[in-house]
Amino acid sequence: MSKQNHLQVEAIKNGTVIDHIPAHVGVKVLRLFNMHNSNERVTIGLNLPSSALGAKDLLKVENTFISQEQAQKLALYAPKATVNQIENYAVVKKLELTLPKQVVDVFRCANSNCITHNEPVSSSFSVIEKNDVIRLKCKYCEKSFSRDIMTEK
Ligand SMILES: [Zn+2]
Repeated sequence: MSKQNHLQVEAIKNGTVIDHIPAHVGVKVLRLFNMHNSNERVTIGLNLPSSALGAKDLLKVENTFISQEQAQKLALYAPKATVNQIENYAVVKKLELTLPKQVVDVFRCANSNCITHNEPVSSSFSVIEKNDVIRLKCKYCEKSFSRDIMTEK
């Protein structure tokens, strides 16, 4: 671990540090976890220098821990992000990011003719990863879309 990362981790007492988020994705992650409405102290670093990514985003949230289910959602946005759970200034747990097989009720189908826009059903996509590109296939209209064009509900 580099000295810089070490300092970033040390800066919070209890909570979660999500590091190595691709630049410009940090704000999406913030919204995904509703952290922008949190009353906890949230520290956001955007476009930080990163040797691996060129530029990266970083989020630190105090007194908030993300579940395995949230980690799966995060994997859709930032498959290579690192998630450290901090307790009393020490990393007590590193969450493994694994892609979910299915995402339900997170995204809106990009096909405007899809039945999900007119019926009271939860959107549902199967997750397909090929050559580092993540695509989502709608359960209802069976069209697949790149994650980048999907918008959150
Ligand atoms: Zn659809």
